[in-house]
Amino acid sequence: MRIGIMGGTFDPIHIGHLIAASEAHRVLALDHVMFIPAGEPWQKADRTLSSSADRLAMVELAVRDDDRFSASDIEVRRDGATYAIDTIDQLRAQQPEDEFFWIVGDDVLVRIPTWHEWERFVSSVTVVAVNRAGADDIAVDFDYHRIDMPEVRVSATALRDRFAQGDRCKYLVPDSVADYVTTHGLYQL
Ligand code: ATP
Repeated sequence: MRIGIMGGTFDPIHIGHLIAASEAHRVLALDHVMFIPAGEPWQKADRTLSSSADRLAMVELAVRDDDRFSASDIEVRRDGATYAIDTIDQLRAQQPEDEFFWIVGDDVLVRIPTWHEWERFVSSVTVVAVNRAGADDIAVDFDYHRIDMPEVRVSATALRDRFAQGDRCKYLVPDSVADYVTTHGLYQL
């Protein structure tokens, strides 16, 4: 099977993530896309995150009506800093026949060389980059597959601010995610 992986903090998950996964699924004829919230995103250690339970719950709500997608707790169950290479090693051991496509936005593409064991990572998966900020092809020291997605300039950071202000975020996050944020009092100042 051809398995897409959408990794991220998902604090909260939003339509940018869902469109990226959906377009990658279509263009690369993937069988399935797994959304994997990071347990401890060490590159975001300088800011306060929602709990991994809340971030996973929002991902589960966002993907539950789409049978192309699933939510995985593989990273939130692992202790210590979250490294993508550990996730791939684990998935490969569990699903040796599968081929993995790791989907990132352009902002993350250029940061891959700062990742733990990044050279082994890029040779273990097909890296798939989606446009995020209007950039064309980006030069990096490894091969990747570019997908041109209808761009939405939404970020979790901007959404957290909007929720904190009490602004509506309809159409930017699934209704079920907006309801979860309200019910659980997330992103209040
Ligand atoms: P934050 O604003 O909190 O840093 P984010 O919106 O960038 O969060 P992440 O969970 O960190 O969301 O991102 C997960 C993945 O989704 C990354 O590869 C990121 O590049 C990609 N991504 C996020 N937002 C978009 C978007 N609007 N369009 C395309 N890709 C996106």
